Amino acid sequence: KANRLFHPDNTVIDVNKNLIGGSNFGVIAGPCSVESEEQIISIARDVKKSGAKFLRGGAFKPRTSPYSFQGLGLDGLNLLKIARKETGLPIVSEIMSTEMIQAFNDDVDIIQVGARNMQNFILLRELGKLKKPILLKRGLSATIEELLMSAEYIMKEGNENVILCERGIRTFENMTRNTLDLSAIPILKKKSHLPVIVDPSHATGLWWLVEPMAKASIAAGADGLIIEVHNSPEDALCDGQQSLKPTVFDDLMYKLRSYAQIEGKV
Ligand code: PEP
Ligand code: MN
Repeated sequence: KANRLFHPDNTVIDVNKNLIGGSNFGVIAGPCSVESEEQIISIARDVKKSGAKFLRGGAFKPRTSPYSFQGLGLDGLNLLKIARKETGLPIVSEIMSTEMIQAFNDDVDIIQVGARNMQNFILLRELGKLKKPILLKRGLSATIEELLMSAEYIMKEGNENVILCERGIRTFENMTRNTLDLSAIPILKKKSHLPVIVDPSHATGLWWLVEPMAKASIAAGADGLIIEVHNSPEDALCDGQQSLKPTVFDDLMYKLRSYAQIEGKV
């Protein structure tokens, strides 16, 4: 179902006229984790002003250590809803288990499946029964074919609103958190009609690498970006070192707008 051979036209994801795919470039921005009402509202206002189409924010965080901040849970989803009401930005948040499907289907505009759950087939199957757009991130060590097969799990059940996300893969290189697989973008675009976005924040782990990798992603044909932005990265409860300050994000959006052929699309 994700195969371009049987579906030559590009799929466009439409959330209240906020579009990703086809000729529509879309940027999702916001903090790794929702931390407080002030934090999420202030970041939401800033990223909206800079031209982001969607607000991201983790409420349920898949952390490597069980002793790290795990997210605010349902309270986090409620804060995202407040930020959506304040700014009108649709919200994107990561789901970790099937138990939360009802809450996410009610509250969130795009449901994110994180790298660690890319092959949680039971979760994918249940998400396939919804109509909500699903943002499916590539697994830490997943091949492109495996990512496409995970999209099939969702689409097979009837939900064809899937956005694919390249977020870097595990390699021997350790100067960056992951290695951004740029060639995955044109390969996914060739094999599939689904929108392909890139997460330069998790791909690199370093805020100053976000700009060059965002530009490279656009050059490689990405339909959008998901970027971590925090009002005070040094105090962030998660992923501060890869988060852009709102002023830096604003400058990046300005540069991306004039970059290559995407004028007016960001
Ligand atoms: C995230 O988007 O905050 C996240 C945890 O990403 P990934 O699943 O790609 O590691
Ligand atoms: Mn993060």
